[in-house]
Amino acid sequence: MAQNVYQFVDVQRIDPKKQPIKIRKTDFIEIYQPMQDSQAQGQADRCLDCGNPYCEWKCPVHNYIPQWLALANQGKIIEAAELSHQTNSLPEVCGRVCPQDRLCEGACTLNEDFGAVTIGSIEKYITDKAFEMGWRPDLSDVVPTDKKVAIIGAGPAGLACADVLARNGVQAVVYDKYDEIGGLLTYGIPAFKLEKSVILKRREILEGMGIEFRLNMEVGKDIQLQTLIDEHDAVFLAVGTYQYLKGGFPNENAPGVYEALPYLISNTKYIMGNADERIDFDSQKVVVLGGGDTAMDCVRTAIRQDAASVTCAYRRDEESMPGSAREVQNAKEEGVEFVWNAQPVAIEVNDAGQTTGVTFVKTQLGAPDENGRRRPEAVAGSEYTLAADAVVMAFGFKPLNLDWLTPFGVELTPWNTIKAGKDSQFAYQTTHPKLFAGGDIVRGADLVVTAIAEGRDAAEGILDMLEV
Ligand code: FAD
Ligand code: SF4
Repeated sequence: MAQNVYQFVDVQRIDPKKQPIKIRKTDFIEIYQPMQDSQAQGQADRCLDCGNPYCEWKCPVHNYIPQWLALANQGKIIEAAELSHQTNSLPEVCGRVCPQDRLCEGACTLNEDFGAVTIGSIEKYITDKAFEMGWRPDLSDVVPTDKKVAIIGAGPAGLACADVLARNGVQAVVYDKYDEIGGLLTYGIPAFKLEKSVILKRREILEGMGIEFRLNMEVGKDIQLQTLIDEHDAVFLAVGTYQYLKGGFPNENAPGVYEALPYLISNTKYIMGNADERIDFDSQKVVVLGGGDTAMDCVRTAIRQDAASVTCAYRRDEESMPGSAREVQNAKEEGVEFVWNAQPVAIEVNDAGQTTGVTFVKTQLGAPDENGRRRPEAVAGSEYTLAADAVVMAFGFKPLNLDWLTPFGVELTPWNTIKAGKDSQFAYQTTHPKLFAGGDIVRGADLVVTAIAEGRDAAEGILDMLEV
């Protein structure tokens, strides 16, 4: 409970300090510096404990936000960490990468007039601090069962499912084709948002809970799904969405045009010290097409590679951008130019076929589409070209081919995602009784926190089915 209910008037919202811009333009380290104890306590105390915690409802894992803010304010870090892990398997990650402005903080009662409580930064502070203090999940009351579940995919959905299963005495074995856990947390989201040491720390915690990781193991190639079904009581599919959406315009396969994820992965592997080749935009004019989190990560990576110029082009206006407003602001501060209402229509190439630019048509926003978003409409005769040595396509992702699931009777949706959900007989059960699914492969490319929510719900579904 806040000691002074008017604290939010006296104490303004203050975000953690950012690294100096000079460092941000060159280094792949998190830009937000850790909160000091006094700052975290003061900011946590701004919570009104308003009795209608909209923040909690807007948070996809329904964190007990006012309660752990109160504990943080009292300096009860271990208690706060215990409480925050009751609803969230990766709070230190969500504190760093959730688009809080659209979720918990956007719903905070103080948001409009006084500035929302810095919920995300305090969530990060609690977990980081608890780890520093040597906190580990206490599983001493857990009664082991003889049940064993295979999880395919060590991204946030798979890790969250494993976490809940382990806390209920079920052996979780996580398979991933990559050499490290994390999925897009490791090979996707850049280190300036989420340093890789955060995932390594979490791996240590999860292994300490008895979760087993079998890495460099691709299901379907190195081990068959049928083997996993035969050897386990259930299998959770959390394979993510990795097929790039294309623009469908001329020359999009020309040399000098890159897909976002291979670009980001090559850079992350390089900074992790295990890359053969890095896609490097040093001294190049770079244009990134798209307006989501992936596009922001690409522009900010290019800035740190010392590109000559970096432009982000998006077909709607700034207000309609799907990415986090905080990350757009960070990109602007780091020197990214934005072009709004610009629909790409062709990649321009020279006689050698090499990319030289992108031609756009200007757009204006028309009637809303089926999702309520206003459709961009081309303005006739408004074409213009931006020069570019490198173009990155960041239009989003859809699932890779899932035909390998057909022999198992797993039904897909018209969008080629796996059909499963809260209303399955057991939460997130597919049309095969032993197979469950969650995360991006069920809801389509979305967020870390929604993948965590589905991984946790699927674990509950598995526990119900196994009567644990
Ligand atoms: P993934 O994280 O994709 O993990 C799937 C895992 O399955 C991978 O490790 C893969 O190797 C493994 N796998 C797949 N097939 C097999 C197989 N056959 N055998 C073994 N293993 C397999 N969200 C946010 O909330 N905030 C952000 O700032 C943010 N930034 C993003 C930036 C980028 C560049 C991208 C691409 C996404 C971003 N997202 C962000 C979205 C977020 O990362 C995803 O929604 C989330 O990671 C999905 O989790 P998942 O567990 O479903 O899948
Ligand atoms: Fe906010 Fe995300 Fe934490 Fe929920 S998990 S409280 S949405 S930062």
